[in-house]
Amino acid sequence: MPEGTSETKLVNFAMANKARRKIINFLANGDRDIEKIEEIAGKKTLEFHLKILQDAGLIELEGRNVKLSEYGKNFLKGKKESGTEEIKDLSQVKPVEIAEIRQLLPCIADSSKFRVIANMAPPLGGILKILEPIFPKGNYLDRKDSLIVKSGEIITTIYGSGKVSMRMVKNEDEAREELESLKNTINEAILKGVFPVPREKIRVELMDIYKYLPRTNCGKCGEQGCYSFAIKLMAGQVTLEKCTPLKESEYAYNEEQLQFLAVYL
Ligand code: SF4
Repeated sequence: MPEGTSETKLVNFAMANKARRKIINFLANGDRDIEKIEEIAGKKTLEFHLKILQDAGLIELEGRNVKLSEYGKNFLKGKKESGTEEIKDLSQVKPVEIAEIRQLLPCIADSSKFRVIANMAPPLGGILKILEPIFPKGNYLDRKDSLIVKSGEIITTIYGSGKVSMRMVKNEDEAREELESLKNTINEAILKGVFPVPREKIRVELMDIYKYLPRTNCGKCGEQGCYSFAIKLMAGQVTLEKCTPLKESEYAYNEEQLQFLAVYL
């Protein structure tokens, strides 16, 4: 049964596609042979869809017979119980536009760089999670319904409300270029469906974590200091939320960096 972050991402990706959701719902009524599934999901890409569902641990293949795995059954049951129904697909989603760039302010972390607040319309609330796999360095944060995308030094956060915050850009031209590229990547996914790109493997070292903590050793997290906190965070014994000073505006950039890195721990 999928348990970790990468397995969860496989399941999210598998269920982000309409044909695959159709297959899963079809299998909810019992095992089927491949020919029957072809009738409802088409023949052309069936092999591909079955492989994705199998990799996500949702189905099992035995010769020409396809059935839901135990995990697949529990997954469907959980969806019904939580009332979350289906994950939205992208066929009804309209292409996005960058409606406006509202601010260009110096970055707190590096005053030679800028941060930008922009607006994306229509807002992508509810489908940001589906878009996560199209970015090599993208992390969806459920808690905030936001998608953090990293490109070089630039960190962009897209919120479900349509707000886009971009940090560490050199100037307005770079911000516009980056926003345009972001828009094109998203619109391509809306048009053609979500095709995941290879995830960049990120090895996180203790010092990567430590350097983004406030390093004030205030003890508000209950640890002796930031270094001890970093060790425990690496070991999965504490969560980032325990470091409350990170919520202060001066550490906004640090918090985003840490949230990004924490996914790879
Ligand atoms: S609360 Fe944050 S800043 Fe304070 S000691 Fe803990 S890790 Fe460091």
